[in-house]
Amino acid sequence: MSERTFVGGIHPGYFKDYSSGKPITSARAPAQVIISLHQNIGAPCDPVVQVGDEVKMGQKIGEPKGFVSAPIFASVSGKVTKIEPFNHPLGNPVLAVFIENDGQDTPDEGMKPGKTLEELSAEEIKKIAKDAGLVGLGGATFPTHVKLSPPPEIKIDTVIINGAECEPFLTADHRQMLEQSDDIVYGLKAFMKALGATKGIIGIEDNKFDAVESMKKAVAEGKGDYDIEVHTLHTKYPQGAEKMLIKATTGREVPPGALPMAVNVVNQNSGTAVALAEAIKLGKPLYERVVTITGPGIKEPANLLVRNGTLVKDLIEQCGGMTDDARKLILGGPMMGLAQPTDEVPALKGTSGVLVLTEEFVKDLPISPCIKCGKCLDVCPMSLMPNFIGSASEKNMIDLAEKYGAMDCFECGCCTYTCPAKRPLVQWIRIAKGEIGARRKK
Ligand code: SF4
Ligand code: SF4
Repeated sequence: MSERTFVGGIHPGYFKDYSSGKPITSARAPAQVIISLHQNIGAPCDPVVQVGDEVKMGQKIGEPKGFVSAPIFASVSGKVTKIEPFNHPLGNPVLAVFIENDGQDTPDEGMKPGKTLEELSAEEIKKIAKDAGLVGLGGATFPTHVKLSPPPEIKIDTVIINGAECEPFLTADHRQMLEQSDDIVYGLKAFMKALGATKGIIGIEDNKFDAVESMKKAVAEGKGDYDIEVHTLHTKYPQGAEKMLIKATTGREVPPGALPMAVNVVNQNSGTAVALAEAIKLGKPLYERVVTITGPGIKEPANLLVRNGTLVKDLIEQCGGMTDDARKLILGGPMMGLAQPTDEVPALKGTSGVLVLTEEFVKDLPISPCIKCGKCLDVCPMSLMPNFIGSASEKNMIDLAEKYGAMDCFECGCCTYTCPAKRPLVQWIRIAKGEIGARRKK
């Protein structure tokens, strides 16, 4: 058993067995994709195609509006039939490009191999990541090229690949570590070269021993002159959160409010490493990704390679549909995922999972007053006081919530999970954060 971990956290049921044994297969390409033009943290894209245009698979259809943004690509070849707002997992409709699939998968001319990793300079690797539209595929969707561009005064010495996949139910990263381990090592080497980092670490929870073995073998065979280690981590939620992963693998503590680069580290998800490897080796931009379709409400759970803009409804149908007692649809995992009122929502770059829960997993218990048990304080990995922040927000005392450190909460949900009074702490904290963020912008 590994010792590597962090303070706080919880041990929820993991329920990985629904899909962990299912190899990655390609999802059926839909007759139409609906590709949202906002798929990353930061600015959305402007369309660079028009209704009636014929597009090729891998062709750029969305141009980023700012530095913290990433281009968006057609995931099929075919005809642009509409450009108009459509459902988005975050709630409000967002401008989307509708493409009628011609079934040909005609590739864009730009999709071809370029230089090898050995031939590429650091700047060229950063440009490939940027031009391929890479974002953090763990769900955070932070544009990858921004993480690869720290201020000149900061020297990144370590790149950590997040293979923890600590969210219950999700297994996409697990399968990629088994099936695409060579590309993960290749991508890690590319990240290290782009940043001038001397150390690479791949962190994996100890409930995925087959992935640990697979990655160790790939590292031994593929690391060359690079200093890369696989670290086995204690299985605990949220082990994959950036600050927790850095603490567990390097012992370094990221100060409150600071980014990992403050301790000379950059984190990347294992799926993002695969995407970078494919961008370098094949010239392939990010127009598809592995998604876990799972949960007790899915008849035939699977890990599918999904084209951007495929409707969740199509994915669920391909997995045999929902069970009769299906009750709740979530994009992502049960802890940090987004509950959806409809399955007519498109898969995005950040869609790591489609989770359908049944009645027994979704119990709406009544909220009670705080009994001051302190459990939420014990589990908070950021050493916050979720009870105080939550209560302040509930009473609309936003200044007080800010004083208690609401903005340091990264919404892992441990406090809500553990609260015996069923107080929706993370929801209240999220409201406070939104209000504080809006005030700061003014
Ligand atoms: S306060 Fe925030 S960071 Fe702390 S346990 Fe709750 S959700 Fe997680
Ligand atoms: S866990 Fe719930 S009941 Fe216990 S102190 Fe925190 S808010 Fe109060």
